[in-house]
Amino acid sequence: MKLDKGLNSSDMKIRNRSRVLKLLIKKNELSRKGIADYMGLTKAAISRIVAELIDEKIIKEKGIQETGALGRNKILLELNKKLGYVLGLSLCEDHLMLIITDVSGGIVGTCLHEFEYHTDFDEMEMINLIANKSLQLLWEHGIDKCSVFGFGISYIGEMDNININMISSGIQNRLGLSVIAENNVRALAMYEMDFVRDLTSNNFLFIKYGPGLGMTIVQNEKVIEGINSRAGEIGHTIMDSAADTTCRCGRRGCLESLISEKGVVKDIEKKGGLYSPLILNNKLALIDYRQASIMIENKDQFILSIFEKRFDYLAKTIANAIILLDPGFVCVYGAIFRQKIILDIIIKKINTYIAENIESKIIVSDLDPGNLALGSATLVIRNVFFNSGGYRTVQMAQVQ
Ligand SMILES: [Zn+2]
Repeated sequence: MKLDKGLNSSDMKIRNRSRVLKLLIKKNELSRKGIADYMGLTKAAISRIVAELIDEKIIKEKGIQETGALGRNKILLELNKKLGYVLGLSLCEDHLMLIITDVSGGIVGTCLHEFEYHTDFDEMEMINLIANKSLQLLWEHGIDKCSVFGFGISYIGEMDNININMISSGIQNRLGLSVIAENNVRALAMYEMDFVRDLTSNNFLFIKYGPGLGMTIVQNEKVIEGINSRAGEIGHTIMDSAADTTCRCGRRGCLESLISEKGVVKDIEKKGGLYSPLILNNKLALIDYRQASIMIENKDQFILSIFEKRFDYLAKTIANAIILLDPGFVCVYGAIFRQKIILDIIIKKINTYIAENIESKIIVSDLDPGNLALGSATLVIRNVFFNSGGYRTVQMAQVQ
């Protein structure tokens, strides 16, 4: 058995470099003293790390920050965003989305492709499609494949009609890039952690609604996976076993089958008439929540009948998750949460279901609900860039 003797000096160096890079991404720009203050290290120690990172062209000096008549001016530092790029793929049952980002997670280009028919995938066909579209996207943005550090794939859980391992190794062979794949809700939670939330937000729940429902549990800055990598699958908790709904996992009464956006679209389609424009895209189950929230405010009985029970199921589940896991906050992601009227209804319900002494801090994610591929790019940036303290990107840039 290997004994854990703690971090050696090389591990510590990687960890400190990694923290400097993460800080610069979240704060955009900082002085050496600013970094030292955040990290609780001496300015001399930070200056050594910064000198190394500048030498390796991973970060650069940006300009001077005026600090007033008495203080000395500070030189600001920023990440060298042109260090390299990342390709990301979000794979769903009915469409795929490709994205190119720089190493700071900034979007350079995207491409959406809807599948013509919904059936079993032919993996070879899919690999060819993804590889060709990736090369085309790089070409359109004038990016050489040599400056791409890796390929991330995020996919919806419980996809039994597609072999993700086969797709991953096929893309790796076709494009010559290392591929990292992960469940899409976890990948988006990692984006929140690495690029958006501050460094103190290391215990939270990330809940994604639309078209299905999923949750990621983050504790001490780590994503909790569970023994079978199924931790957080709240969409597949049984809410009503007598319900007349069969979930994509094959069981009856899963929460996701009761509240999914596809079910909402079906109900609206059945009614038709003046409600039809609420469906923006039938295949992708995109709903005009702005119009829906106006109808809810005007107490439209049909729309209320569609949403009321679904909001209730969702609120109960979030409340139960808060009670079970006691997070610092809950970050909710999805187009539905961007409508204040709807969000207020859900939060009010959550508060009625949790004990008075428990706080429900709900934060709406700023991430674009229409761009799931951002999470997939994060997988590569996290593994290749952050976790190696930038060393791997330097090595790769030298090989190229
Ligand atoms: Zn299920």
